[in-house]
Amino acid sequence: MIEVVRADITQLKLDAIVNAANNSLLGGGGVDGAIHSAAGPQLLEACRKLDGCPTGEARLTPGFNLPAAWVIHTVGPVWHGGDSDEASQLRNCYINSLDLARDKGLRSIAFPCISTGVYGYPRRQAAVIAVAAMREYENQFDKIICCCFSDSDVWIYQKVMAS
Ligand code: ADP
Repeated sequence: MIEVVRADITQLKLDAIVNAANNSLLGGGGVDGAIHSAAGPQLLEACRKLDGCPTGEARLTPGFNLPAAWVIHTVGPVWHGGDSDEASQLRNCYINSLDLARDKGLRSIAFPCISTGVYGYPRRQAAVIAVAAMREYENQFDKIICCCFSDSDVWIYQKVMAS
């Protein structure tokens, strides 16, 4: 089941939440900063050992002080206008995160709207890619959550889900 919710992803008690990280995996602003501050300093220590992550790939750490058991760190593309492979890189974020979660036996997972903050990906186009990937994995999880941080993102996702 795919659900659209408006929430702070750090509050969700699920098997895994996904972090929209950067290539260093050493923390940043936006949802990345929120996840690191809620998880505590052990998360940064765990991320240091991973030695970064290429765009479109995904890495797993425990959730430490988060209600979620695990954090999947994925690195979305920076939007450069759409001709720089952004769409397939964004799709890879979702596919690789879902593959990792499934292979680990996780049953519930929430995604933020990857790349649509400072990385500038157009929100509707990003939602279309996110929902298409989630639908491919829908029957392999109990719950896949689109965790929106604003009412306008909820609205966009609801429209994309209905189409
Ligand atoms: P990116 O660098 O991938 O663009 P950002 O963190 O800047 O990542 O933004 C990605 C999305 O995460 C944006 O839609 C932003 O509103 C949202 N966001 C920011 N903080 C949170 C949070 N605590 N929970 C869920 N979503 C959040």
